[in-house]
Amino acid sequence: MLSNLAVRDVETLIHPYTNLDAHRSAGPLVLERGDGVHVYDTEGRPYIEGMAGLWCTALGYSNGELVEAAREQMAKLPFTHLFSGRSHDPAIELAEVLKELMPVPTSKIFFTSSGSEANDTQVKLAWYLNNALGRPKKKKIIGRQRGYHGVTIATASMTGLPANHTDWDLPLPGFLHVGCPHFYRFAEPGETEAAFSQRLADELEATILREGPETVAAFIAEPVMGAGGAIVPPEGYFAAIQAVLARYEVRFIADEVICGFGRLGTWFGSEALGMRPDTLSFAKALTSGYVPLGGVSVDEPLYEAMRAQSLKIGTFGHGTTYSGHPVACAVALKTIEIYKRERIVEGVAAKAPHFQARLSRLAEHPIVGEACGLGLIGGLEIVADKASRRQYEPKAGVAARCVAFAQAEGLIVRFLMGDRIAVCPPLIITADEIDALFDRLTRALDRTA
Ligand code: PLP
Repeated sequence: MLSNLAVRDVETLIHPYTNLDAHRSAGPLVLERGDGVHVYDTEGRPYIEGMAGLWCTALGYSNGELVEAAREQMAKLPFTHLFSGRSHDPAIELAEVLKELMPVPTSKIFFTSSGSEANDTQVKLAWYLNNALGRPKKKKIIGRQRGYHGVTIATASMTGLPANHTDWDLPLPGFLHVGCPHFYRFAEPGETEAAFSQRLADELEATILREGPETVAAFIAEPVMGAGGAIVPPEGYFAAIQAVLARYEVRFIADEVICGFGRLGTWFGSEALGMRPDTLSFAKALTSGYVPLGGVSVDEPLYEAMRAQSLKIGTFGHGTTYSGHPVACAVALKTIEIYKRERIVEGVAAKAPHFQARLSRLAEHPIVGEACGLGLIGGLEIVADKASRRQYEPKAGVAARCVAFAQAEGLIVRFLMGDRIAVCPPLIITADEIDALFDRLTRALDRTA
């Protein structure tokens, strides 16, 4: 029996990433409030938010300082923009703070309102750069199977998930995909992690050579894949990939939308995985998810090319109304201040061994094939047969069932393609809450088995 609110939801709302037909009978989970790592539904039932919302609410749900930062900025100057050289204090200060934090050479920061917009901007900037450098053919973009980069036409094209391509007439021409670095699922029998990584790098090189290096602009990768299954790359992966990119002057974009701002126990995921990207995209935990904000780092050669082009064309023709929204920038500044003051990133590094130990214990469960992660992110894969790694029929919806059982146990986690389940709690989670999270997930797995 759906509640009154649920009925009104079903009658009026289209939900992103939802089976719209099943939703008509299942209805929504309507949340009303949050406190720490918990959210509460309209009946007052508490849940551990084991996904930090959508991989974003790093500081949990009741941070009064963030609320106050938003309120103050709302009262002072709720809106102005950065078009035509106009500016404001929070954007300037935030760009300064971010420039200091960036693990890549950074000349300037360009703000967006979401991760999709940030990655879309990366594609446009890679194209713009090559036009400025007189290499108009160097435009192709390489992503990875199961990579996730957003939903705009370009970012859905870079994404390597069927749901973003099938019946959307995507990917666009000029967007290519190489293999997914998931050792458990895609390594060949007897292959070592290093050999698997090298095989993927060889595939990337073969793709670049087949297409012609003079046509390939950029390669994009998340440090740890999120929506594609919470997948940690194998040993040596990024070192091998980077060597190929450097040989053919292919720009390396790190998509730090999930891993940025502490998730892996370092400020950025690139640092945890030894990545040396040319630029990175960020969003989500920049504001702890309280207000939308994203952005990209702009290196000096790119900035010089942008400056030269805008001299030629008369303007830098890109940006949205809300790029660098003052309220969002004020909340981001406060968020980063709290990360530093509360030593949140160091706290993640300290808590991660306990989180990962509890996660790996799930690999002993009869229906779990793999359970591993990095920092405070984890993925597990449900299998029909552990020895052969055989999966259930997709129609069985076994991971979806497990997530529903978890919800009944008072835990929100997310099911992903390939019967994978992701766990990505707020960074402020305590050791006891980590235990409660995994106790509930274990009970959900027991009920699924
Ligand atoms: N990149 C990554 C790695 C993401 O996980 C996401 C969203 O989950 C995006 C980009 C897109 O961000 P948004 O949903 O803010 O557009």
